[in-house]
Amino acid sequence: MIRASSFAGRRVAVFGLGISGTPTVQSLLAGGSRVAAWDDNEKARDAAQALGLPVVDLSGIDFSAFDALVLAPGVPLTHPEPHWTVKKARTAQIEIIGDIEIFARERKGNEPFVAITGTNGKSTTTALIAHLLRSLGLDVQMGGNIGTAILALEPPRPNRFHVIEMSSFQIDLTPTLQPTVGILLNVTPDHIDRHGTFEHYAAVKERLVEGAEAMVIGIDDAVTREIAARMAETGRLYPVSTDPEEGPHTRMFADGTQLFARETSSGYSSNQKIANLDTAANLRGRHNVQNAIAALAAIRSLQDRLEALGSRIEVWKPALLAEGLKSFPGLAHRMEDVGSVGRVRFVNDSKATNADSTDKALAAYVRNIFWILGGKPKDGGIEDLKAYFPGIAKAYLIGAASDQFAATLGAEVPFERSDTLDVAVEHAARDAAVLAAADPSAEPIVLLSPACASYDQFRSFEHRGDVFRALVAKLPGHAAKGS
Ligand code: ADP
Repeated sequence: MIRASSFAGRRVAVFGLGISGTPTVQSLLAGGSRVAAWDDNEKARDAAQALGLPVVDLSGIDFSAFDALVLAPGVPLTHPEPHWTVKKARTAQIEIIGDIEIFARERKGNEPFVAITGTNGKSTTTALIAHLLRSLGLDVQMGGNIGTAILALEPPRPNRFHVIEMSSFQIDLTPTLQPTVGILLNVTPDHIDRHGTFEHYAAVKERLVEGAEAMVIGIDDAVTREIAARMAETGRLYPVSTDPEEGPHTRMFADGTQLFARETSSGYSSNQKIANLDTAANLRGRHNVQNAIAALAAIRSLQDRLEALGSRIEVWKPALLAEGLKSFPGLAHRMEDVGSVGRVRFVNDSKATNADSTDKALAAYVRNIFWILGGKPKDGGIEDLKAYFPGIAKAYLIGAASDQFAATLGAEVPFERSDTLDVAVEHAARDAAVLAAADPSAEPIVLLSPACASYDQFRSFEHRGDVFRALVAKLPGHAAKGS
């Protein structure tokens, strides 16, 4: 655990006692601050109380009694409207921060801290960087928006690498964010409900790289391209692109699945081939090409920063990194193979909470797709996925988006309203088996790639994916992945 020593003797209100809130309170207490913690949810309060945490009803307290409010990232700071604790903190003119800000204040500055954001690919890139650095035998602490809350990790040290995924909400709550390396993968519309406008959302994402000592920016979309152009003069920019035409303007680029680094010495640039992703089983698809080059550029820039700090640690070891890309195990819920029944394969892509993510899965499987989708819809629905409709054998609609998606699918794609995931899995498995029997060359895919948030029927996308995996495992004749 990281002790919040920078808050010693200060009075801190903590709101939100979930995955990150509980370790935040523990960290603040261990660092010597006086804490009052609260949550709107009674169960969360009871759980915190059972751990002996100081649970105090904040609603009746004037916040000038505190020096700071630490907010969980799920609590609205601005949109749709500021949470009541935010209003009270603003009235009392105390700072409003998140747990990553506490971490940032515990750094002296020379401890390697890699922060990753983007609309899509954050978790994969975070896990990949952590995996690559671990494969070099280094001490790596991974967390933030993925897995472990940051304050539950080991403390920063000059020879310890913190690899931290950050959502926009977390960036918003980290005013002094100055990572060693900041990575911005891409920016496309998402989460606008929580950020008001797309411009604000993009500006928040930009902040992660702005303060970074080295900035890795994917330049394959209009927003990030503009951000990179603004940063070009800083001398801290490492642009990456999946487009070989962009190669000369990058530090790392791809040509198909081949990854290249651009090195400049004595005014001459050359391309150095680093790896071919063809043999990296868990980095399939163009989107993973972007994640892989961003991860490599992060490590390349980290090498430069370590040298600048006088560190002897070596991280830029291309041959070992190429091996590391191959051995990357991938992440659950992202095009995760959850086994088969006969020739029918089942894929859990529950993490696809928007059309842009689902696009990647539909592109990877192309045809004979029995597609389970729906949930709490996002702006734009599935309009952008129409190009893939000819490859959909049948769609199975679940959750709140059913009416909207039924209208988009229209007469182009056969569909049914399954309503719930269990019915969808049962029917999709049955229909896919009929196709497999009728056409011996077909390789049907039952794909859960919802293009929606999960909150209407599930606790989280992980919960939705776990339920899917369990339902598939119960199907008669199910064989696990790789068997
Ligand atoms: P995040 O943590 O940003 O939500 P993940 O790494 O968990 O992203 O990937 C979620 C989904 O987003 C993947 O299943 C894939 O469909 C899509 N995706 C992953 N990487 C990228 C990328 N670089 N660009 C666009 N989409 C991506």
